[in-house]
Amino acid sequence: MSVLVFLTLILMNKIALFPGSFDPFTKGHESIVNQSLDIFDEIIIGIGLNTEKTYLFDLDKRMKQIQEIFKNQDRVSVSSYSGLTTDFCQSVNASHIVRGLRNTVDFEYEKSIAHVNRSMSEIHTLFLLTEENLSSLSSSVVREIHKNGGDISLFVTQHNILV
Ligand code: ADP
Repeated sequence: MSVLVFLTLILMNKIALFPGSFDPFTKGHESIVNQSLDIFDEIIIGIGLNTEKTYLFDLDKRMKQIQEIFKNQDRVSVSSYSGLTTDFCQSVNASHIVRGLRNTVDFEYEKSIAHVNRSMSEIHTLFLLTEENLSSLSSSVVREIHKNGGDISLFVTQHNILV
């Protein structure tokens, strides 16, 4: 394969970044990644690191959990990043950000972030609707269940890796 063909193939690859805290990565997030695979060639799950935030689940374990979930899907990868999401998109050649929507509250919040990101860069945000049965699921609910000794296996695939 010539260098030119190789470069063209890379440039034609539609890459999307799915950013979030993923503390932890739930079945709701998993469903958004699976839907995104019908639209994009490659999905990068980006675990955003915010020094002002504290996380319940260890970063390495969160990364391992996500890797295990998608171990048979070579179009999905996981990275962590700090700084602006749009800068990270540019560094990994992602043309789009994917975000999941559960309700109108999510929409209003996400809309303003998407507009700001668009005004700072060429990156577009694509919203995907959650599946109905997952629309009440959030990482914060899962954290609460876990902190109180409850079973999170209903909501989180590969939950054993996290604990
Ligand atoms: P952040 O801290 O950036 O909001 P989260 O890890 O909470 O990150 O969520 C990442 C993305 O996943 C967001 O777009 C959020 O709306 C979406 N999301 C969270 N829970 C669900 C769910 N149950 N179904 C679909 N999307 C979801």
